[in-house]
Order: sequence, then structure tokens, then C-alpha cells
Amino acid sequence: MLGRPVGYGKYRSSMLIVQKYGGTSVGSIERIRGVARRVAATHDAGHQVAVVVSAMSGETNRLLGLAKEISSHPDERECDVLVSTGEQVTVALLAMTLKDMGYPAFSLLGHQVQIATDSAFGKARIRHIEAERLMTGLHQGRIAVVAGFQGVDADDNITTLGRGGSDTTGVAIAAAIQADACEIYTDVDGVYSADPRICPHAHKLHRISYDEMLELASLGAKVLQIRSVEFAKRYSVPVHVRSSFSADEGTWLVREDAGMEEVTVAGVTSDSDQTKITILHVPDRPGLAASVFGPIAESNIVVDMIIQNASAEGFTDLTFTVPKGDAQKALSLVKATAAEVGAGGVATDSDVAKVSIVGLGMRSHAGVAARMFQTLARERINVQMISTSEIKISIVVDAKYTELAVRVLHDTFFPA
Ligand code: ADP
Ligand code: ASP
Ligand code: MG
Repeated sequence: MLGRPVGYGKYRSSMLIVQKYGGTSVGSIERIRGVARRVAATHDAGHQVAVVVSAMSGETNRLLGLAKEISSHPDERECDVLVSTGEQVTVALLAMTLKDMGYPAFSLLGHQVQIATDSAFGKARIRHIEAERLMTGLHQGRIAVVAGFQGVDADDNITTLGRGGSDTTGVAIAAAIQADACEIYTDVDGVYSADPRICPHAHKLHRISYDEMLELASLGAKVLQIRSVEFAKRYSVPVHVRSSFSADEGTWLVREDAGMEEVTVAGVTSDSDQTKITILHVPDRPGLAASVFGPIAESNIVVDMIIQNASAEGFTDLTFTVPKGDAQKALSLVKATAAEVGAGGVATDSDVAKVSIVGLGMRSHAGVAARMFQTLARERINVQMISTSEIKISIVVDAKYTELAVRVLHDTFFPA
């Protein structure tokens, strides 16, 4: 049991703090009691606390599984009504535990706070958060326990924010109430230089810039949902990623400052949620790319990497990647275009993964790409596609090399 929240040393005596607890942290009654003790200790230390909780671990998957038993394409509105119940259970259990311990807690669902979103069921975006009800409760000395992941649209429909969305609830609430800190409690004790489950040598980063974290999150590091990092950056929310099972300091998300570029690579990450689509032997003429990617864009499918082979005798191959969940839809669109433009055929490969290195220091250090490719060549890992930006390099490899690629790249850029 925690007597007081360690790591608050640098906190002022009375602060406004948002604490978000992920699924593993509330995965059993015993763990919910542990969370309640930590929340209570923060309250006892004189801070105002708003808590955001996820569903118990495995619960969202279980609910989605039930929906899939009904239909291969369950109705999206009803799906959100279903999956949002996971968080309704945990807010009730946590508020109940706190009240049982004698603390003035109260639970709030998304529509009660008024977490207003658009109507994109399953991947809704937060438009506005009504801070008043929350703040009134906090000013009365009560502990607000808010359901993560869920919101409400303009027609009072329940919406959800996409997998990992409780992170975004936490950070967005912190922004709305101008909290002094947003603590993200999870099952690792911070953001690491690579997923510690893949890379045993990964080390904890004491701080990371918003931009690096944005890249890591969008390139597969699921420790924070990407939209939560977008909120954090836009509203300068001080986010502290830490473990719910220890009192250690975790990782702070911070604005870029001098010195950060000295570190070439901040992290290595991978994303297996990719399918590669190739249009074979297609006439190479102006307007080709527009006719292929136009319909895909209109269907709101995000195309990631694109390569076009050098043209031979007026024909070329065009290859690109899309998220696995969009592959079927993209494929049927591409097949239609391929027939129209007289291509030789369409091939797909879902046994691929994207592996990326991220770091502000890449702006000023030459030769990072060369070191990356030498490392992969040494391990005989074939690079199928490459894309770069100012602070990241991504490659596509055969899925069976994903973990090996992460480990060897990590060892290259973070020698022991
Ligand atoms: P929660 O349920 O608390 O939201 P998640 O499972 O969504 O937790 O995110 C935490 C997981 O993110 C960790 O268990 C870890 O395996 C994974 N992860 C991936 N990349 C990283 C990284 N660079 N640093 C820390 N954790 C990472
Ligand atoms: N329960 C939701 C999920 O599993 C949201 C979250 O945990 O952040 O994705
Ligand atoms: Mg998560």
C-alpha cells in the first residue's frame, strides 16, 4: 500500500491532477483497490484529482467478440453502445471503492461530463469538453471518476474514441481543466527506447519531446494513443507516463529544448498493422497515381508508404501500404482501377511490418539512414520500402523479421 504518492516531490502543495489508469491497472478488484489507494493518497496530499479509467483488461476485446458473433459487420452505432459499457463498469467500481474508504468520489460517464465528439462511431474525435460540472465537483473537494474512451455526439448518441482512447480522454480532460499534470498509469514504468516486451535492452526515457512521441505513437508504439499526444502538444499538457505498480518516476512529455538533438535516435518501433498492395505492369503515364489514389482517399483510407518502380518499356509496378483493416476495401477499389487502366494484375501481402527509428537528432546527424541499412544488411533483412521525414526513417520488411529488426536497430543506436 502506498502511504503517499512518491514522485510528487517536485509538485506544489496543492495541484490539479488528472490520473488515467489503463486496463491492466484496473484488471481485477484487487487492482481497483490499489488504484483507489493511490487516488486517495493523492487526495490526502491536498491535491484535486480527476481520475479517468479504461475498461478492465480484455473486456473491450470480449465485447467486440460478442458483436462479431452477431455479425461480421456489426452496426457501428450499436457497437459503441456495447463497448462503452466496459468503462461504465470500472468507473462504478472505482467510485464505489473510494466511497467505501470514506472518500467523496463520484462517477461520470462521457455524456454526463459532456465529452462532445463528432459522429464517427468507433473513431470519434473530441470536439469540446464541458469542464464546469467536473470543476464544480473538484472545488467541492470531491474526486471525479470519469469513464475513458467514450463521448457523446450532437444527437446524444454514444461514441467511442478508437482503441487506446482512454489516453485521449485523460489528456483532453487535463487540457480542458488546465490541470497541472496528467499522469498516465500503465503496465510499464514509462516510455522506453523500444517496446520492452520486444527489446530486453530497451531503457526508460526520462523525457521525450511531444514531436518524437507523436511519431512513435503513430508508428506503432501503443503506449499512448496518437490523439492523446496531439492534445498534449497542442495544449502543452505536462504528461507523465508511469507505472501503476510502482512509485518510480516515469517519462515526462516535454517541449523540445536545446540538447535534445544531441540524441540521434530516441526510439525504435514497429507496426504490424500493414498490408502491401501492388498494381503490376501498369502503363506509366501522367495521371496514373491520381487515378489509383483518388478513390482510396475518397474512402478515407490512409495510404502510408508508396513506391513506383523505374519504368521499363512504358510499364511500371506501383506498391503502397494501407492499414490491415482497410485492405479489403482498398483492394476492391484498386482492382477496379487496375481494370480501367489496363494493368497486369493486383497482388497483396499482409505478412509485412513497418519498422521505424525516431529522433530529433536526425535533423542534424548525417548518416543515420546508412547506419540503419547497414545494420539490416548485416542481418540479411531485406528492405522492401523506405520512407523518411525530418525526424524518422521507416522501412517495410517481411513480418517474420519484425522483432529481430527492432532489436538489432536498437543495439546499433543504443549500444550497451
Ligand atoms: P494501457 O492498458 O495501460 O493503456 P497499453 O497496453 O495500451 O496499456 O500500453 C502499454 C504497452 O505499450 C506496454 O505494455 C508495452 O508493451 C507497449 N509499448 C510499445 N512500445 C512501447 C514503448 N516504446 N515504451 C513503453 N511501452 C511500449
Ligand atoms: N478500453 C478501450 C480499449 O481497450 C480504451 C482504452 O483502454 O484506452 O481500447
Ligand atoms: Mg492503452
